[in-house]
Amino acid sequence: MSISTIAVAGGGIAGLTAALLLSRAGFRIDVFERAEQFTEVGAGLQISPNAGRILDNLGLGSALDAVATRPEAIEMRGGQSGRLVVSLPLARAAIRYGAPYRLLHRADLLEILLAAVAADGNIAIHLGSPIGNIDETADGVRFTAGSSSRNADVLIGADGVRSAIRAHLRGGPAEPTGRTAWRTTIPASAAPEGIARDRVTVFLSDRSHVVIYPIRGGREINIVAIVEEAWQSAGWNEPGDSAFIRQRFRGMAADLEDLIVAGKDWTRWCLSGVDANGPWQRGRIALVGDACHAMLPFLAQGAAMAIEDAAVLTRMLLRQGLPAEIALERYVAERRPRAARVAHAARQSGAIYHMSPLAAPFRDATMKALGGDRLLARYDWIYGWRQSG
Ligand SMILES: Cc1cc2nc3c(=O)[nH]c(=O)nc-3n(C[C@H](O)[C@H](O)[C@H](O)COP(=O)(O)OP(=O)(O)OC[C@H]3O[C@@H](n4cnc5c(N)ncnc54)[C@H](O)[C@@H]3O)c2cc1C
Repeated sequence: MSISTIAVAGGGIAGLTAALLLSRAGFRIDVFERAEQFTEVGAGLQISPNAGRILDNLGLGSALDAVATRPEAIEMRGGQSGRLVVSLPLARAAIRYGAPYRLLHRADLLEILLAAVAADGNIAIHLGSPIGNIDETADGVRFTAGSSSRNADVLIGADGVRSAIRAHLRGGPAEPTGRTAWRTTIPASAAPEGIARDRVTVFLSDRSHVVIYPIRGGREINIVAIVEEAWQSAGWNEPGDSAFIRQRFRGMAADLEDLIVAGKDWTRWCLSGVDANGPWQRGRIALVGDACHAMLPFLAQGAAMAIEDAAVLTRMLLRQGLPAEIALERYVAERRPRAARVAHAARQSGAIYHMSPLAAPFRDATMKALGGDRLLARYDWIYGWRQSG
C-alpha cells in the first residue's frame, strides 16, 4: 500500500523538520503537538554544519543567517585560571564542511521552522493534541490525539525524551545522568568585557563546565553551566536558585564568576538520556530525535541528530516500491549506529571536561600538544556528515 498520510507526534525541532522534509517529498503531514501553544525555552542552540546543511537545503539558510552568529572558534579555557587551553577554528567551517556553524536562540529556530510550515500547504498542525491509545492495524496506525480519534498510514514519534510513542514500542524510561544544565541568557551589554562575543567559550572545571556563546545576532549571551548533581525533575524549565549556582562557581576566573553573577532567571534542567540501542521502530511506527536517542549535550548534537534523522527517514520513505515497514527498518539500520556513536562521544567529552584538578593538567597539556586544527579534525566525522544513497 502506498503512503498517503503521515502523522507526526510532537512539534519540536525533530517533528517540524521531519514534517517539512516529508511534505517537500510529497507526503501529506499532520503534526500533533501536546502543548496548547508553541513555546521554546529561553536558551541557545548550536547548529553544526551536518544539520545546517539540511536546513539550508530546505531553503531556511538566509532566515537562519539573519538571527545567527557564525563563531570564529570554540575555545577551551581553564575554569579557575581563565587561561586559554586550545582554540578549535570554525571561521572556515562553511568551506570545510559545506555549511556554516551557527549559534542562535532556540525560539528563533522554532519561529523559522513554523513560518516554513505555515507556508507549506501539505502540513496541518494540531495543537493541544497529545497522541495516545495507539493501535497498530493491518495497514496503518490508529490513535487518539486529544479528544479525537485518528488514522494514519505511518506514525512518527518526535515526542521528545519522555516519549509516549517510545513507551508504546516498549522502550524504557529516560535515565537521569546525574548532571544538570543551568541556563540563562543575558544582554551582551551586561557581560564582562573579557567574555568573547564572537565565539563559543567553554570553561572547564572540576565536575562542571560552562558554555558561553552569543545569540540573537550578538545582542544576547547564552550561558549554560553543567553541574554534577543528583537532582531529578521531568520539567524543561524549572526555576533554579541563583545563590546555588553563584556559590558553585565562586573562586573561578574573574570573568566567569562575574558572568555567573550577571545571570538572572536561571532555569535548571535534569539531563536525562535515552539508550540509542532501545526500540526505534515497529511496523509503521518509528521514532526520531530525543524520543530514541536523547543524549548529553556536550557535543551540541541532540537537535542536529534529530535533523539528520528526519532527512534519512524522508529518503527511505521516498524509495520507490519499498513497503513502509521496510523503509522504516532501513531508516533505523542507517541511523542507530551513528546516533549511538555520537551519544558515546558526548559522554566521553563529559568525562574529559569534568576531570579532577589532579588530572586536568595532563588533559590540558594533551589538548595543547594536539592543537586546535587537529582537535577539530577529530570531529570531521560529525560535522562532515552527508546523506548517502
Ligand atoms: C542544556 C542543553 C543544551 C543543548 N544544546 C544543544 C545544541 O547546542 N545543539 C544541539 O543540536 N542540541 C542541543 N541540545 C539537545 C536538543 O535540545 C534536543 O536534542 C532537541 O531539542 C530534541 O528535539 P525533539 O524535537 O526530539 O524533542 P523536544 O524538543 O522535546 O520536542 C518534543 C515535542 O513533543 C511534544 N510532545 C510530547 N509528548 C507528546 C505526545 N504524546 N503527543 C504529541 N506531542 C507530544 C512536546 O510538547 C514537544 O513539543 C541541548 C540540550 C540541552 C538539555
